[in-house]
Amino acid sequence: MNCIFCQIVAGKIPSEILYQDEKVIAFRDINPQAPIHLVIIPKRHIPSLTHLSEEDLPLIGHLVNIANQLAKKEGIAESGYRLVINCGKQGGQLVPHLHMHLLGGRQLSDILG
Ligand code: 5GP
Ligand code: ZN
Repeated sequence: MNCIFCQIVAGKIPSEILYQDEKVIAFRDINPQAPIHLVIIPKRHIPSLTHLSEEDLPLIGHLVNIANQLAKKEGIAESGYRLVINCGKQGGQLVPHLHMHLLGGRQLSDILG
């Protein structure tokens, strides 16, 4: 398996892990775009949003819930933050393992695209 994020899950690539449970893992982005930039992923390899099935929908709720908890822990719940999931080439997805970005700690751009 040459997926970078699967290798982070397996502990083969070191990362600053901030949270993990049976289903998800969260770590600091290696190339942060904001003072707080975390990546929250399912441990199971799902390539992108387009590969989600109905049964995976609780997993997405879980990712959002963990992101909200981490935003509190990182002290940005009050100031505000952004959750982003890029999907596919034109959506800006570089790593083909579904992941959610948690960004905050500065005023984020109001331009989304
Ligand atoms: P994407 O553009 O696919 O939505 O985002 C992928 C993110 O993963 C990027 O923000 C990138 O900096 C981050 N990333 C890529 N490789 C690694 C890595 O080996 N470790 C960590 N911690 N983050 C990574
Ligand atoms: Zn993977």
